[in-house]
Amino acid sequence: EVPVGSVPGRRRLGVMGGTFDPIHHGHLVAASEVAALFHLDEVVFVPTGQPWQKSEKAVSPAEDRYLMTVIATASNPQFSVSRIDIDRPGPTYTIDTLRDLRSLNTNADLFFITGADALSQILGWRDATELFSLAHFVGVTRPGHDLTDDGLPEGKVSLVEVPALAISSTDCRGRVAQDDPVWYLVPDGVVRYIDKRQLYRGE
Ligand code: ATP
Ligand code: MG
Repeated sequence: EVPVGSVPGRRRLGVMGGTFDPIHHGHLVAASEVAALFHLDEVVFVPTGQPWQKSEKAVSPAEDRYLMTVIATASNPQFSVSRIDIDRPGPTYTIDTLRDLRSLNTNADLFFITGADALSQILGWRDATELFSLAHFVGVTRPGHDLTDDGLPEGKVSLVEVPALAISSTDCRGRVAQDDPVWYLVPDGVVRYIDKRQLYRGE
């Protein structure tokens, strides 16, 4: 079987954007599953700068979110982390992420991995039409959100069932604030980092 969009001699680069406040096993399982199904050479995790959809809420410092993402992905040779969004001034737009990754990786085809909740909002994103010309979109299942390609351009989006993990960063932050455990919801090193930096304590 020839994977979707396979072009000889070109690298296949997955892109997993997120706030990662904190990164959790839902993110990691989704990336791992899509990497296998789409024969990706690498998945780059891209923590957002100041997230425009969440600007009303406090978000942890970018450097903490970046480091947790590095800690969580360090042991996987296929995973890497990019600073492009956190180093770009101003709010993050996915169109900028994809344009920048495109020019940094001229020999790669991009596969943007996104959860069902984000996918359903995609048509409201800035420059939706150009987005689909920069990357193939892969929508993954997420408990509590229907995975549908209603209204999305034909052939530009693949829907994938990943093992469902009912984990969200919001729930993890709430647990830490209440002194409930986040062991096994996030990687061990991330549990330690949250504790070391006293993140989410006052929420
Ligand atoms: P928050 O609760 O703060 O919104 P989150 O858990 O949704 O955090 P994000 O950083 O917002 O995490 O998500 C980044 C990407 O990962 C999004 O595309 C989101 O849909 C996807 N995602 C998050 N959690 C899961 C999960 N459990 N299963 C599948 N995809 C997920
Ligand atoms: Mg979210």
